[in-house]
Amino acid sequence: MADFDRTAYPLVINNESRPASTGETFASVNPATGEHLADIASAAPSDVDAAVAAARASFDGGGWARTNPQKRTRLLFKLADLLWANLDALARLEAREIGKAISSVKAEIMQGASELEFFAGAATKIRGETNAAPHGFVNYTHREAIGVCALIVPWNYPLMTTLRKLGPALAAGNTVVIKPASQSAMSAIVMAELAVEAGFPPGTINVITGAGSAIGGYLAAHPGVDKVSFTGSTEVGRHILDAVRHDFRRVSLELGGKSPALVFADADLDAAVPGAVWSIFYSAGQSCEARSRILVERPIYDDFVSRFAEQTARLRVGDPLNPKTQVGALISVAHRASVEAYVADGLAEGATLAVGGKRPDDPGLASGAFLMPTALADCSNGMRVAREEIFGPVACILPFEGEKEAIAVANDSIYGLAASLWTTDVARAHRVAGAIKSGVVTINQPFTVFPGTPFGGFKQSGWGREVSLDALDDFTELKSVLVYAGARPMDPFGLNG
Ligand code: NAD
Repeated sequence: MADFDRTAYPLVINNESRPASTGETFASVNPATGEHLADIASAAPSDVDAAVAAARASFDGGGWARTNPQKRTRLLFKLADLLWANLDALARLEAREIGKAISSVKAEIMQGASELEFFAGAATKIRGETNAAPHGFVNYTHREAIGVCALIVPWNYPLMTTLRKLGPALAAGNTVVIKPASQSAMSAIVMAELAVEAGFPPGTINVITGAGSAIGGYLAAHPGVDKVSFTGSTEVGRHILDAVRHDFRRVSLELGGKSPALVFADADLDAAVPGAVWSIFYSAGQSCEARSRILVERPIYDDFVSRFAEQTARLRVGDPLNPKTQVGALISVAHRASVEAYVADGLAEGATLAVGGKRPDDPGLASGAFLMPTALADCSNGMRVAREEIFGPVACILPFEGEKEAIAVANDSIYGLAASLWTTDVARAHRVAGAIKSGVVTINQPFTVFPGTPFGGFKQSGWGREVSLDALDDFTELKSVLVYAGARPMDPFGLNG
């Protein structure tokens, strides 16, 4: 049984929960209250070596890589069942750790468990192909596991992102070392302990915790790691690339975004306004695919801004553990300061404040990292607030004239993760979806992924795809086998005479 009430969280290496070899820990703090929650083991490089060695032994020794696909399926489903059984406790744990509204956290963990189930089923369906080859030759391909995979995860969707990587990695036969963000380590540790309970062989799933720049960097550069699957900022993504490029180890990168929502004059505003509100303020804007640039066609611009501001002002901001809360705290007081600085910068550059822009009045929230959902209207795409990822509850609203300008502004970004289109013109919806340079385009609805639908970015939003079967490709190597099936011995130099 998982223990959700403890105040110390260990490393999980080779199916053993153990303290860091140095005995060092770091604090986990509830950003909604400032309360100290627990001490987390702070791994030393030697602990990372031990985790990689355990994963290597499970891989090379056949503990996991040679496990029958059917058994992989059963174990992954078993882990998913344990996650569902502990859903409420896990959601509470994560809501306290990252300050996010518990209703959001719960939905994310459900999504993560569902993705795990999707890949549990996929473990028995990994297929190769036969290809046309010259007479007398047979060619077939198969996909094989890469080896030891480092899964490096951010704090904004902690358990969901971990499961998103774990499912395809394990389904394909890899073993893993998970490095959660320091702000959100507890749920990954509990998940790994549940995996021990489910019966995964020792060394298959390991978790190390500690500072990203030290331990994350050491793990990414570790010669015993065959692939790094990273989700996080574009800036740290560059460090990951530096770590793997010398020996060309495999890498996939899910990075930042500055995703647009395009609202055309023919849109149904009864859907577009609440959809746009949700797509930026869900997760308090701390979402890689947050639609943080809202492009609105001129004829409906004023109406849209006033309806957007009115609905935003009605969002329930407060205690993350209250199931009615819609927007919780930000990850830290320091992060809130950075978001507030962006708001001030946008106003100084000429944006107007449509709603929010301040901390909540409720004195009960004063010690937490809260910020009211904020909309900056009359932005232009050259402003810093419209170009950089703020990663907080700040929407930038920009007017546009016509489809051509909307597409040009939407694509004028270093990022290309997601976009939303709001229009009742079917032909336009498909035309614009084709012209937008992003990995995902949603039409007349705000949700970006369901288990099985691809997720990943164009441009500086990353490399690779997750959530769908494409993720299995990213966690496998493709091998081509060429067989000679002719009647006479193969003698390319004609040496047999
Ligand atoms: P981050 O890049 O600061 O950290 C991500 C992870 O990398 C953490 O575990 C951290 O400890 C570790 N890390 C930090 N420095 C490292 C280094 N030098 N080497 C190896 N690992 C290191 O990101 P964050 O602040 O935790 O998360 C927010 C960012 O993540 C945003 O930019 C957001 O857009 C991005 N994100 C992207 C996706 C996606 O799927 N595209 C999803 C969620 C978050």
